[in-house]
Formats: sequence, structure tokens, C-alpha cells
Amino acid sequence: MRIYKEFHFDAAHFLPTAPEGHPNRRVHGHSFRVVLWLEGQIDKDTGLLMHFERFLQEIECFRVEIDHRLLNEIEGLENPTLELITMWLWDRLKPTLPMLDRIEVHRASCNEGCVYDGPDA
Ligand SMILES: [Zn+2]
Repeated sequence: MRIYKEFHFDAAHFLPTAPEGHPNRRVHGHSFRVVLWLEGQIDKDTGLLMHFERFLQEIECFRVEIDHRLLNEIEGLENPTLELITMWLWDRLKPTLPMLDRIEVHRASCNEGCVYDGPDA
């Protein structure tokens, strides 16, 4: 069984590895949509995989750390490509959400996204 929850954050970044003169080298912003998938067994007593309220609490504690930030200033995100943001999110969330099975990060304004199933997938 899998359940998912979406959250949004807005952030600025620049890509230091983009070619000289490329627009991505300049600071710019995106609205990101993140989908977190959990996989596990349903609790027989509650009929739930996880209370969505607890799921939301875990996400919100974390979301405030990245919302309205310059991602390059965050430790581990010095080169905040979509792929590395997704992996960074996984590394941060997996310890508190052991059922985490998949992370999707979407940049709606660019019609782009990244899906990560963890380092073992
Ligand atoms: Zn960008």
C-alpha cells in the first residue's frame, strides 16, 4: 500500500556549474511541488498506513527550512540542481519517515520534474 502527500515551496537558486553566460548561472526563483510517497503495511487497529496529520507535521518542520530561501546557502545544496535537490530531500526526510518510498520534485513553471526512489532503487 502506498500513500502520498504533496507540499509546495518557493525558493531561489543559481547553478554554479552552468556554462558562463547561461541564465541559470544568475539567481532566479521557482515554485516547487514535492510529492512524498510512503509505502508500508496498514495498521490493523487504525486502518491507516500513517496518520496524515503526523505526516504533515513531519513535512512542515522540514518545509520551513527550505521555503523562501536561497538554496545555494543551505549546507549540501551548494549546487542545487533538480536532481541534487531531490536526493538532498531524500537524505533529510528518510530518517524521520522510514516508510518513504519515492520523492517527486516538480517545477511546474518549466514542465520539468525529477523522481527518486532512493539510493538502492
Ligand atoms: Zn532554476
